[in-house]
Amino acid sequence: MVSVLIIGGGICGCSLLYELSRYQVSALLLEKENDICVGTTKANSAIIHAGYDPLPNTKMAKYNVEGNAMIEKLCKKLDVPYKQVGSLVIALGELQEQNLHKLYNQGLKNGVPDIQLLSGEEALILEPNLNPDVTAALYAPSAAIVSPWNLGIAMAETAVKNGEKVELNTKVLSIEKSDNHFIVQTNKGTIEAQFVVNAAGIFADEVNDMVDEHKFTITPSKGEYYLLDKNQGGLVSHIIFQCPDHNGKGVLVAPTVDGNLIVGPNAVPSQNDDVSTTSLGQEFVKRMAVKSVPSINFRESIRNFAGLRALTEEEDFIVGESKTQKGFFNIAGMKSPGLSSAPAISLDVIEMLQKSGLELIEKDDFIDTREILRFKHLNDEERTSAIKQNPLYGAIVCRCETITEGEIVDALHREIVPSSIDGIKRRCSSGMGRCQGGFCGARVQQIIARELNIPLAEVPLDRKGMGIITGVTKGGVLDV
Ligand SMILES: Cc1cc2nc3c(=O)[nH]c(=O)nc-3n(C[C@H](O)[C@H](O)[C@H](O)COP(=O)(O)OP(=O)(O)OC[C@H]3O[C@@H](n4cnc5c(N)ncnc54)[C@H](O)[C@@H]3O)c2cc1C
Repeated sequence: MVSVLIIGGGICGCSLLYELSRYQVSALLLEKENDICVGTTKANSAIIHAGYDPLPNTKMAKYNVEGNAMIEKLCKKLDVPYKQVGSLVIALGELQEQNLHKLYNQGLKNGVPDIQLLSGEEALILEPNLNPDVTAALYAPSAAIVSPWNLGIAMAETAVKNGEKVELNTKVLSIEKSDNHFIVQTNKGTIEAQFVVNAAGIFADEVNDMVDEHKFTITPSKGEYYLLDKNQGGLVSHIIFQCPDHNGKGVLVAPTVDGNLIVGPNAVPSQNDDVSTTSLGQEFVKRMAVKSVPSINFRESIRNFAGLRALTEEEDFIVGESKTQKGFFNIAGMKSPGLSSAPAISLDVIEMLQKSGLELIEKDDFIDTREILRFKHLNDEERTSAIKQNPLYGAIVCRCETITEGEIVDALHREIVPSSIDGIKRRCSSGMGRCQGGFCGARVQQIIARELNIPLAEVPLDRKGMGIITGVTKGGVLDV
């Protein structure tokens, strides 16, 4: 029997697994897909919010501010791309300025460090490409940008290094409460667990209803984005938000940790799993974004994508133990700022687990660091030495992002093995550049097939079923 069974390998599940791996407990994370961080965690704005948006005295406000303070350290230790660039919420006119004051006061109540109200002129000095009509701005220096999937993967890999387990392609189908434990049926068999934590993202209501009374319904809200080429990445150096309204935080314009520009999202009610982009949504995002930064050149778009917010009847996150099914916990309704909040939520859930009877004895040999070789960040001397150690670091596979075969092979031999081209993209950034994998995709596919010793046709673009080729002809050109 495992001590803690976590359902869902998004940022919330991975973060909890990581924090649990400090202790002598057996934790197991189940993910229904062929990789972790492929749900909402892979498709969001990638912002570590400062924490002035949530209403004071909510879980959101507490976890956001605490999470923001934890994430920089986590990223340093686990070698995850992160930059504390700060954010500006801009106001265009008096009405929006009133909104800024409200946000500023909320920020003070929530304990957001160093926030300041700026005049329009001051905002334009910080960001010369802003709409010249900007009249005021709220500056929050603690806001940051991160690679969200890298953070989740880093935490899960480190947890596995510390002895915890992750099972991919394992879908939870039912949960039954026995006297003092849970019997969980999956597509791969039965698992018994002392505690169960539901971190199933937009499916968290379904998982809750498997064992507990119906308490919330998730209605996904879709947000669509543009990702622009690096030649647009320098247009702004801070995260630029518009004044929030009843539709949420509005359309943002921000640099990414890879040097691109991200623009979005809109907010449209959606169906489970529908992450299609639409011309209407894209047009809306464009129209709104140029109100903040008029000179964005949308012809430099290299990718559109969409993510799903897990909205529930409640404004706040749903975090805690069920009152009726002791030992069953929810981390649900994780809309924004869920990414920023996940590490702080994990600490709180661990305290709740302890109160509920989980014994926590710290490991003496807990590993809390991870180091990744990123060839493009090495100087000439370091590159030469890396290639001497492993000649595969001398073979560039992704020309846009300067990613070597050595880095891809490394990713395929770490604790959680990706089996898709996008799984490698999330770990190494291959295919993240201007050509979006047009040149390197086939080569990455060949390396995965070779290293995992599987047929080329079994390597999908991303999730299972997203096949690219159906077979290879005898002596075929595609074979390695
Ligand atoms: C448009 C948009 C923008 C956002 N921007 C930000 C932002 O800038 N900053 C921020 O802090 N937050 C942001 N968020 C919120 C943030 O992305 C989410 O709160 C966070 O990613 C949710 O993580 P999760 O682990 O709860 O869910 P997910 O990442 O969706 O993970 C849940 C996992 O559970 C798995 N699963 C589901 N059912 C089962 C089952 N039965 N068995 C096994 N596995 C199962 C799924 O496959 C999935 O991998 C944004 C969200 C959206 C949609």
